[in-house]
Amino acid sequence: MKNIKGKVYITGAGPGDPGLITVKALDLLKGCDCVIYDFLASPELLNVVKGSCEKICAGKTDGLHILEQDKINELIYKKAKEGKVVVRLKGGDPFVFSRGIEEALYLKRRGIDFEIVPGITSAFAAPQSFGIPLTRKGIYSSVAVLTGRKSSGEGMDAPGCDTLIYLMAVNNIGNVVKAILKSGRDKKTPCALIERGTTEGERIVTGNLANIAERARKHLVRSPAVFIVGKIVDYGRRIYGHKFKAR
Ligand code: SAH
Repeated sequence: MKNIKGKVYITGAGPGDPGLITVKALDLLKGCDCVIYDFLASPELLNVVKGSCEKICAGKTDGLHILEQDKINELIYKKAKEGKVVVRLKGGDPFVFSRGIEEALYLKRRGIDFEIVPGITSAFAAPQSFGIPLTRKGIYSSVAVLTGRKSSGEGMDAPGCDTLIYLMAVNNIGNVVKAILKSGRDKKTPCALIERGTTEGERIVTGNLANIAERARKHLVRSPAVFIVGKIVDYGRRIYGHKFKAR
């Protein structure tokens, strides 16, 4: 094992705005020998790498991979074993619905040196881009981040939690809303879909639990988008009303 000099940085690219990558991640990108990247809301980040840096696309939107996870693990391992400094670049934060932990465990088992470089997750950044906070002292004190991929069953809601934030929910919004209502939340609860948050093309579609699925269809909301549910959504219009337009 001692002769393996490569190192892997399992790195967050941030939510979309290229300015929201960390200084550490940017420095690593500039210096690395190989970057293996997933869907990125800010593909221009790849322009900073050295001319000799190998760029490999491993994934696309919503965690759906071009390569199977096993193949990605092997690829990262292979590149590190060649002695390369590898940046494994993932949208948002690498440990939030990104399978970064699977990759870390795989490398750990094979004695490859690696480091986790956190990023700003879209779960938090997209709402903030429209002035929606995550907490407010004394009023809204809990936030849950959930997957919107499940069609039914456990883990589709966090009853008792003030604010719910779903990733990967756009194509399953009907089931997600059904589950939230079933757990007892009022159908007038405000909610919003934030598409391509923090990028130039970002937009927000607001509504309540009774009408958001229909509004998502009407406004053709597409992935990637964050779905946020809770009264805290109303702050957005107060802070950044100009960004909400007539929707
Ligand atoms: N690790 C990522 C999440 C990967 S799962 C993170 O921390 O952000 C992919 C999901 O992230 C998408 O389906 C969408 O729900 C969300 N997402 C990623 N980028 C987004 C963006 N710029 N705006 C809104 N949602 C985004």
